[in-house]
Amino acid sequence: MKASIAGYARATDLKHALALLAQADSQARVLAGGQSLIAALNMRLSAGDMLVDINHIAALKGVRCENGRLHIGALTRHAEVAADPLIKQHAPLLCKATELIAHAAIRNRGTIGGALAHADPSAEFPACIVALDATIHVEGPDGTRDIPASEFFIDVFETTIRSGEILTAISLPIAEQDERQVIHEFARRSGDYALAGVCVVRRSAGHRVVCISVAARPELMTAAMAQLDLGNLESAVCALRDALDPPTDTQATAAYRRHLAGVMLDRAMADLNGAKT
Ligand SMILES: Cc1cc2nc3c(=O)[nH]c(=O)nc-3n(C[C@H](O)[C@H](O)[C@H](O)COP(=O)(O)OP(=O)(O)OC[C@H]3O[C@@H](n4cnc5c(N)ncnc54)[C@H](O)[C@@H]3O)c2cc1C
Repeated sequence: MKASIAGYARATDLKHALALLAQADSQARVLAGGQSLIAALNMRLSAGDMLVDINHIAALKGVRCENGRLHIGALTRHAEVAADPLIKQHAPLLCKATELIAHAAIRNRGTIGGALAHADPSAEFPACIVALDATIHVEGPDGTRDIPASEFFIDVFETTIRSGEILTAISLPIAEQDERQVIHEFARRSGDYALAGVCVVRRSAGHRVVCISVAARPELMTAAMAQLDLGNLESAVCALRDALDPPTDTQATAAYRRHLAGVMLDRAMADLNGAKT
């Protein structure tokens, strides 16, 4: 099937993109890497939209450190995240996550901004940025907004981005000297979406744990984090499983996903403590 779209416009800068979105009056879709959007359009899950291509907006590109924070432009491709020296040094979790996302062709086109705006609960970046306590920056007709990652995701494929707004960048605190960041997930085949996964960040303030593919949105698993802070891994695994109510679908039952999440936390902690599994 072919996509049904109302038109296509290539924005030259952010102001132009915002004007194009405003003109379309809620009937426009931002086109970034197109790896999720074009597939949805081709399947007619969405139709009749005006596509606003943001790929040529220089202000949405680039990675830099400023005032103790790492800023990553929304158009940074997954492959660029994997290779960027600043991200490797200050947010290695994001580099590790890219190895688990799909295949090379998708990683060459997909953007971090697109992955976050798409808000797939099976995607790696949303969970990572909640674990890293990032801030998401958006710009729209009413100006800019800075949204904590923990408040950005509302439900499956639903975020706090309003109609007419563009996600411009994310920023996050640079990793502390002894900080550890790991991600572990289980997928049936390499490149598939995970059946369950977990991101763990250990900072001086304590552990931060966020799961993948077991809930409608990525959330901090506070009960498990408290047990990890006390050094009780077994209790943390139990607390994690108790807190989860994953869906049953054609890929896995809820019970299997809950079990896997606990196994992934166990493996993540072994990795974090130096005994990589
Ligand atoms: C076969 C396949 C396998 C995949 N496997 C995985 C996987 O294992 N893990 C994973 O995490 N992802 C996976 N993906 C998804 C991939 O990572 C996508 O690239 C990503 O989710 C969307 O990024 P994009 O830049 O392509 O966004 P697009 O497809 O261009 O856009 C996605 C949505 O976000 C909106 N959007 C995009 N950018 C912005 C912005 N800056 N501001 C506001 N709204 C915006 C669009 O309007 C659209 O609604 C897979 C995709 C495919 C096709």
